[in-house]
Amino acid sequence: MRMVERLRSQGIADEKVLAVMSALPRHVFVEEAFASRAYDDDALPINFGQTISSPWTVGRMSELLRANSDLDKVLEIGTGCGYQTAVLAQLAREVYSLERVGLLLTRTRIRLKELQVNNVYLKHTDGMHGLAEAGPFDGIIMTAATVHVPPFLLEQLVVGGRMVYPKGSVEQRLCVIERHPQSYNETILETVNFVPILSGVVRK
Ligand code: SAH
Repeated sequence: MRMVERLRSQGIADEKVLAVMSALPRHVFVEEAFASRAYDDDALPINFGQTISSPWTVGRMSELLRANSDLDKVLEIGTGCGYQTAVLAQLAREVYSLERVGLLLTRTRIRLKELQVNNVYLKHTDGMHGLAEAGPFDGIIMTAATVHVPPFLLEQLVVGGRMVYPKGSVEQRLCVIERHPQSYNETILETVNFVPILSGVVRK
């Protein structure tokens, strides 16, 4: 509850996002050694050099993706420990989440099953290609930073849909791209700090 109060004071305004985050146990998603810090506003290590995004980041990206309406199909690139995935699962009818590190995904699959998150489809693949066969999506969220989003990924959005991602490499800003009938509109927002998107898959 204190975490959610802090998020509210930090400007997260979407009550549905706040309600979902107040009900989801975040300590289940971090390594045991960090469990006592799970509700601090920090990114924490989740192995393989990756990090679980901070609560503020998850709240902010979720409210930007939702834009105050329920989502139908969402694509997430960078499953990691699955915390953002589990939040999205309660904001959307179906979530497709792609992760390049096989072992991370194996653990996350077990964790989400234990939490009875059943409307999430996880795939071990290089997420930069998206998942055209399951699209189009009304939201795409990327939880690793990139300078450039390939056009074929944006084409997996419905018209009226939006993509939220950290744009940049050393200096990064949250970026929202909205798909309009004939064009895309980009909005640059807060400074953030994500690991970079990497190409290819890691088997283990
Ligand atoms: N939302 C996650 C963020 C994890 S960090 C969480 O809170 O746990 C970013 C994740 O993106 C890492 O798990 C990393 O392995 C993954 N990633 C990086 N490049 C990727 C790519 N090309 N395709 C799929 N996943 C990728």
